[in-house]
Amino acid sequence: MNAALTATDLFFDQAACGLMATDAHGMILTANTSLHAWLGMAPGALVGTRLHDLLPASARLFHYTCCVPRLQSEGVAHDIQIDLLMAGGARLPVLLQLVRQRDGDREIDHWALFRAGGRHAYENALLCKSEAADGGREVQRQRDLQLQAANTQLSAADLRKDEFLATLSHELRNPLAPMRSALDVLKIRHGNDEDARVIGAFDRQLRHLTRLVDDLMEVSRITQNRMQLRRAPVDMAALVRGAVHDMAPMMTAARHTLRLALPEAPLTVDGDATRLAQVVINLLGNAAKYTPDGGLIDVELAGQAGHAELRVRDNGIGIPAGALGTIFQLFTQLEPGRERACGGLGIGLALARGIALLHDGEILVESDGPGRGSQFTLRLPLIAGCAVAEEISTAPGQPAALRVLVVDDNVDAAETMATMLELFGCTTLLAHTAAGALALAPDFLPEVALLDIGLPDFNGYELARRLRGLDACAGTKLIAATGWGQERDRQLARDAGFDHHLTKPIDIERLRLLLQ
Ligand code: ADP
Repeated sequence: MNAALTATDLFFDQAACGLMATDAHGMILTANTSLHAWLGMAPGALVGTRLHDLLPASARLFHYTCCVPRLQSEGVAHDIQIDLLMAGGARLPVLLQLVRQRDGDREIDHWALFRAGGRHAYENALLCKSEAADGGREVQRQRDLQLQAANTQLSAADLRKDEFLATLSHELRNPLAPMRSALDVLKIRHGNDEDARVIGAFDRQLRHLTRLVDDLMEVSRITQNRMQLRRAPVDMAALVRGAVHDMAPMMTAARHTLRLALPEAPLTVDGDATRLAQVVINLLGNAAKYTPDGGLIDVELAGQAGHAELRVRDNGIGIPAGALGTIFQLFTQLEPGRERACGGLGIGLALARGIALLHDGEILVESDGPGRGSQFTLRLPLIAGCAVAEEISTAPGQPAALRVLVVDDNVDAAETMATMLELFGCTTLLAHTAAGALALAPDFLPEVALLDIGLPDFNGYELARRLRGLDACAGTKLIAATGWGQERDRQLARDAGFDHHLTKPIDIERLRLLLQ
């Protein structure tokens, strides 16, 4: 029993906190040794003294205005931080827990005191750290927000650029159409007299300009994921032979030697012949451009592990190793070849790779470095056992002398087209609005109507439907002439009752074929 008491006394006396009891008037009834030791007093020195003397003035004020009312009303006061006066007059910050208890007819306040100095410092440090962390998080958040805003702006700018390129190339095509028609007229009229050379130069430059605009248009289709392929079985050997034939004048002009190795048997891929020819022509054109005059260009087509593999190798200016990875990016032009780019825009290879990818193929580049030539390899998956579609003859015949109604709100475009058709022996009538065309058609009885789509009153699709409704046009061959050449546009034209769809600038040979 005694031992138990001693243990309790010890526990009270040497507790890890200060313990004290006061009566309701603030007289200290008992206090443990821990508290005496903290205050620098001999054990028991506090007993019989007044709490009042232990508190500095501010703590006293706080105790009587805050703690005592709480003790009276609730019987407890928690988490109160005040200073106690130590023996030498220094202050000891403590945290209090107070409980008022009734003992018979008197009230006793039990005090538990915890040293708070360290806690202060710890809390301060914690606060500082947390503020620093919050600050850091805030800075990071602000940076993330800025990055996000910059990203959004960049994507919007990129989208605007793609849209701008699409619109620009489309708009540039419009004036090219009448220029091409006018030039074709001039070629027919003056192709054999003393103006032939001037007309030839005009023709070459116009072709070049048209090709640039076409490339821009195509590449914007690829970047906007709007390019559609018109797939059919294509014999790559025939396609490469045709492309080499087309590029022969350029090779000859630069005195290049072109060695062509084609397989005996056809190599058939499932592809869009026009697009694939574009790729091959680009590779041949680059080999010619980026090889000094008198160079050697090897073109080799072979079947390789289920693929048609075309290699175009030149002994030209070559490509530095560091640029091999970027050469297919849009608008990339390497410094050494810049003066040889001949007005290129750095679009060709980006377009070629985009087209190859759309065909589930690829284009690879190799070069041993500047001055050591380059090799481009186009790989396309082969389809086995497939008959190649018969080549359509494009040999121009004489067009029939037909009555052609030409409808275009661009007066120049309409007139040059009419002049050319007349040179073919056709009789033409012009209209610059859809309503005008509808008014002329019943008397003119057109055998062919060549309709622009963007007309001021209503569009060419609607005009085609209405013309089809007229007895006079029941058998008329309706041809749409538009700046837009996507599959969607062709479908719209078919749905409206058009027999054919031509993209501006109109290829005169294709038109000639349609008039036969
Ligand atoms: P462009 O020829 O219109 O500039 P391309 O996209 O076809 O655009 O080519 C991009 C760049 O790649 C060229 O400007 C040129 O620097 C480089 N290049 C392409 N083909 C070759 C080649 N056969 N030899 C050396 N450099 C080439």
